[in-house]
Amino acid sequence: MELPFSESYRIKMVEPIRKSTRQEREQWIKEAKYNLFMLKSDHVFIDLLTDSGTGAMSDKQWSELMLGDESYAGARSYYKMKAAIKDILGFDYFLPTHQGRAAENVLFSTIVKEGDVLPGNSHFDTTKGHIEYRRAFAPDCTIDAAADTQLQLPFKGEMDLDKLEKVLRETPHEKIPCVVLTITNNTAGGQPVSMKNIRDVSALCRKYDVKLLLDSARFAENAYFIKTREEGYADKTIKEIVKEIYSYADIMTMSSKKDAIVNMGGFVAFKDEELWKKCQMFCVMNEGFITYGGMSGRDMNALAQGLDEGTEFDTLETRIKQVEYLGKKLDEYGIPYQRPAGGHAIFVDAKQILTRVPKEEFIAQTLGVELYLEAGIRGVEIGSILADRDPVTRENRYPRLELLRLAIPRRTYTNNHMDVIAAALKNVYDRRESITRGYKITYEAPVMRHFTVELEKLG
Ligand SMILES: *Cc1c(COP(=O)(O)O)cnc(C)c1O
Repeated sequence: MELPFSESYRIKMVEPIRKSTRQEREQWIKEAKYNLFMLKSDHVFIDLLTDSGTGAMSDKQWSELMLGDESYAGARSYYKMKAAIKDILGFDYFLPTHQGRAAENVLFSTIVKEGDVLPGNSHFDTTKGHIEYRRAFAPDCTIDAAADTQLQLPFKGEMDLDKLEKVLRETPHEKIPCVVLTITNNTAGGQPVSMKNIRDVSALCRKYDVKLLLDSARFAENAYFIKTREEGYADKTIKEIVKEIYSYADIMTMSSKKDAIVNMGGFVAFKDEELWKKCQMFCVMNEGFITYGGMSGRDMNALAQGLDEGTEFDTLETRIKQVEYLGKKLDEYGIPYQRPAGGHAIFVDAKQILTRVPKEEFIAQTLGVELYLEAGIRGVEIGSILADRDPVTRENRYPRLELLRLAIPRRTYTNNHMDVIAAALKNVYDRRESITRGYKITYEAPVMRHFTVELEKLG
């Protein structure tokens, strides 16, 4: 008999989580104004709000915390992180920052000016925010296929080379500080980018003499997909694949809260010494001195260790197979989600489930609240609350897709938890016809309203 798959670790520390009753949850979600962000985590049984900073560090990472060197300048921990970035990613220069968006802030403060154009494959929201805040533009050059949730493609997060070349050709050279390639493509559902696409994007950048920035939060998951899905990579190690990926890049920004499996941290890395030097000023001003930036010594140690573990095949296989496992359960129950299952999350297609809830009443949010009420599971709405209002007309924007994202933290939950998530969704799915009304907004902030929005139940 073939042995089934199992996790590549055992557990030596546990954190209790508490179940609750439906009655309790009804009270709590009402108090939270039906905004899942406003719930106390103690009132959540399985928390799938994000996979960012919510992973479980290993015994070695916890040990590294004790070895941290907290010197202000030239700390051992800085050199440990520097060595990991050089060995694993191949970059000579870097600046530590407190998380991914801070890396973007340091880099874009230096290289982006008003009117600039930074094409990419579905920029992450903070990336786009940092670009647009500087009155620059972030044209989306993702392949069209990424928007079709039922299309089964191995590399659904890719850059459309024709769209990219059009932008590069039609924009004055001095207005393009860099091209942003995000691996994996978070916004498109954790969908990967092939090595061929990375190579081709890099070649286009060379042709137009433009720098290539890899937004790298989930670069290791992307490398896993290259190994398991792209011809010619099956026999290469993840670390060999990662080396090749970064041989094509000039700059990388990294939210280490994802694939480096730490709770906080990030960095921006450079091939070019001169650019590193230019960026130092914003690092010192906004983050901290260049050898710690936004991080403490112990956290730099844990990050260095996490980069090593996060680029091991076993770690990635355990993680991605768990997301896949949840996807297969949903298949079994006929619940529609963005296919194929992404590296870090399942995006449930709320519009296809709650067909009776009008879009003006926030379909994906309604599904998110129902799932919480059902079993204390917290996902996050990727729909019209997140899409916010049009900045000019102030009308609500209704995106084509209404998704409920279930992000799976690394090394945190077991497959039994996945079974509970799937069963809870099935229960909601089975009573979908009885869910006809959603919510209306009673308070919203002028920007990024989803975090603090207050809602009232309709009907
Ligand atoms: C999370 C993320 C960021 C921002 O990182 P933070 O650590 O959350 O600030 C940037 N890009 C991508 C693709 C991400 O997933």
